[in-house]
Amino acid sequence: MEEKIIDGKFISQTIKDELRDRVNKLKEEGKEVSLAVILVGNDSASQVYVRNKKKACEYVGIRSLSYELPEETSEEELLKLIDDLNEREDCQGILVQLPLPKHIDSEKVLLRIDPKKDVDGFHPVSVGNLSIGNPGFVSCTPAGIIELLKRSGVELDGANAVIVGRSNIVGKPMAMLLLRENCTVTIAHSHTRNLSEVTSRADILIAAIGKPKFFKAKDVKENAVVIDVGMDRDENGKLCGDVDYEDMLPKVSKITPVPGGVGPMTIAMLMKNCVDAVDLF
Ligand code: NAP
Repeated sequence: MEEKIIDGKFISQTIKDELRDRVNKLKEEGKEVSLAVILVGNDSASQVYVRNKKKACEYVGIRSLSYELPEETSEEELLKLIDDLNEREDCQGILVQLPLPKHIDSEKVLLRIDPKKDVDGFHPVSVGNLSIGNPGFVSCTPAGIIELLKRSGVELDGANAVIVGRSNIVGKPMAMLLLRENCTVTIAHSHTRNLSEVTSRADILIAAIGKPKFFKAKDVKENAVVIDVGMDRDENGKLCGDVDYEDMLPKVSKITPVPGGVGPMTIAMLMKNCVDAVDLF
């Protein structure tokens, strides 16, 4: 039963350790990696995310430049900060923690980040590079899922992959990455007819809809690989995924738990993007 469960905590730790070695080598060559982390306002969830990102930076050996700005920061001030960071040679990556306060246009802010420093992979240039197969930054959660699959020995070439969810940060980049790995890719969404029939064809199912325990054993074929991106709350307020894990477990060949599956990979891949930034462009 053990190898059925894809251990995202373990795999993300391995990646962070590999990155730490890479950063040490870069330091020996006189190259430092640094990430600017910008937080505007007092959103408590965002404060936790930012703290975790800084902790990961510290572990890997990435210098974090921290900008914790008051809620009333104007859009103009934030754009000016990004312009300055775009120019700075001692800053390889820029991350703006979302959501931003309502008076700031998030899209305008993200567009202002130099694509060469877009370690979140959200800039349209990064998205375009991914689509046409050029080097560039990839959105961290789908990039992490590819690592989970590869490091768990899942055969991707020629596999039928079904992604449920078509968001810009998960579903769509996931589709591009799986296509790059020679999967036959289907993207399903809330208008898909006979969803269960579509998911039952999947060798690899990626569930990314944000609905607690939505997918059951009856929705997949025997020995499917199931990746659960969801971060939901069940009826008792407990963290769970989009997949009914207990129901699914006996039928699948591999599955990610929630928590401890996809979640820990996101920060590890952010760290990877920062380290890659040194030599990417
Ligand atoms: P999102 O922007 O809300 O997109 C949800 C997608 O699911 C949409 O494309 C929607 O279809 C589709 N959908 C919703 N209900 C459906 C249904 N009943 N049947 C079929 N498709 C349905 O969500 P997201 O940002 O991609 O996130 C998805 C989940 O992943 C959330 O639980 C989120 O918390 C989690 N997440 C986790 C991580 C992580 O690090 N682990 C990172 C990001 C997101 P339409 O387009 O037709 O509306």
